Amino acid sequence: MQVLEKAPAKINLSLDVLHKRDDGFHEVEMVMTTVDLADRITLTLLNSDKIIIESESRFVPNDERNLAFRAAKLVKDTYNVKKGVKIFIEKNIPVAAGLAGGSSDAAAVLRGVNRLWNLGVGLDELAVLGSNIGSDVSFCVYGGTALATGRGEHIKILPSPPSCWVVLAKPRIGVSTAVVYKRYRGDQIKHPDTKAMIAALEQEDFQQVCANVGNVLESVTLDLYPEVKQIKEQMKHAGGDAVLMSGSGPTVFALAHQETRAHRIYNSLKGFCEEVYIIRLLGNRS
Ligand code: ATP
Repeated sequence: MQVLEKAPAKINLSLDVLHKRDDGFHEVEMVMTTVDLADRITLTLLNSDKIIIESESRFVPNDERNLAFRAAKLVKDTYNVKKGVKIFIEKNIPVAAGLAGGSSDAAAVLRGVNRLWNLGVGLDELAVLGSNIGSDVSFCVYGGTALATGRGEHIKILPSPPSCWVVLAKPRIGVSTAVVYKRYRGDQIKHPDTKAMIAALEQEDFQQVCANVGNVLESVTLDLYPEVKQIKEQMKHAGGDAVLMSGSGPTVFALAHQETRAHRIYNSLKGFCEEVYIIRLLGNRS
């Protein structure tokens, strides 16, 4: 028996860090939305009590370090499941890119083994479970558009942005989220207006969505990697309605209402950035 799950990437329309907590985590406020660039996860039932990870990507580990493995193990342990699973990951989302690829794979595995092993667990419970694997996993369990607070595990579903084009560009570097947070200094930075972003989504106002994108981690990564800054400037120059780094980077995205504009941005980057994608917002929950 086999189950297929799509694991879409996310972008941050806004990312704010409120303060560092006593437990060492940062209290965040993030508006995230899924985009139509996805890993594909195939889960095959095993009668032996094993979890096997397979992937053709040389960038992800094929063992217990893989977040997909940790998701399956967590479900097995929590619900005392005696069956096994083989998990094949078709990796399409760039790794260590700020697009939550690993978190989305983990979330897809939570949903997938729930079906494969007939557990009947609700999405809300899977999202709570997922928060033990990583801060973005709870959001990825639902997909769509949401406000994530706490360290990312409290999810409030929001209306999706008006449909538009998204150009993603990832320079040839991976960014460590931990390093970026360590260098982050909240006092010298302009914080995004999360309430205004939520209002823009509720009013389906594309211009106001674009006017309110913001990411407090952006300047940290831009200072570390000038090539990210260069991509950002290029996207703005080519006419992106909004241009922002996603997560802790290094991927930068441009939103474009018009298809011709999206293609202009895409073409302007093709020369000097290897990984460029022109896609749509996924918008609604998949
Ligand atoms: P986020 O936006 O949630 O911070 P990211 O896009 O920056 O995530 P990932 O692509 O999730 O980063 O990868 C981060 C690290 O996790 C990588 O170093 C990678 O080796 C490891 N990893 C473990 N499992 C996976 C997986 N299934 N897919 C991608 N990376 C994984």
